[in-house]
Amino acid sequence: MNDTNTKIQALEPLLREVLLTLGEDPGREGLKKTPQRWAEALVSYTQGTDQNPEDHLKVMFELGEHEYPEQTDDMVMVDNIEFVSTCEHHMAPFRGVAHIAYIPNPETRRITGLSKLSRLVEVYSNRLQIQERMTNQIAKAIDQILLPLGVMVVIRAMHFCMIQRGVKQRSSSALTTARRGMFLDNPGLEIKFQNYLNLTNKLNDL
Ligand code: ZN
Repeated sequence: MNDTNTKIQALEPLLREVLLTLGEDPGREGLKKTPQRWAEALVSYTQGTDQNPEDHLKVMFELGEHEYPEQTDDMVMVDNIEFVSTCEHHMAPFRGVAHIAYIPNPETRRITGLSKLSRLVEVYSNRLQIQERMTNQIAKAIDQILLPLGVMVVIRAMHFCMIQRGVKQRSSSALTTARRGMFLDNPGLEIKFQNYLNLTNKLNDL
């Protein structure tokens, strides 16, 4: 069932049933092709499920021995990585931005391509998710593959399950953080990271 077309074909009759159960007429003009489009969309939203995000991080570089200081808390940061994911509790989208910082380890001197970090966010967001888990998965993958001295991930997102149903909070967003290594031991580093991000401004970007 891994093949995209097989999944779409299997989903179509099920989604047609959903429309019928909602009291709709799946034969009416506007809905005729909806089960197919809906199936294609669902498969697209979850295309990261079978991918191993860590494969992307394995494309890494080792800085030369003299290209990196022996002791450091300097960070590599990538901010405003946009993503759209699907809340697994309500099957509704949530969209937001991820900010990532890590402190390369002077012993291994491993760094990854900057675009690989956004690829990592993309793969983890193309799954049925919850924001808390996604934040930790990103931090864990970087921690395990790059063996940095520290890593911190901040995600701010708006959840359509909060906007369209239930509490109907249109201007509320959720902020989650995940820290590893030096970011846990040294609060000054977190402040440095936050200063860089200027998170209050980022609120307006969503
Ligand atoms: Zn939800």
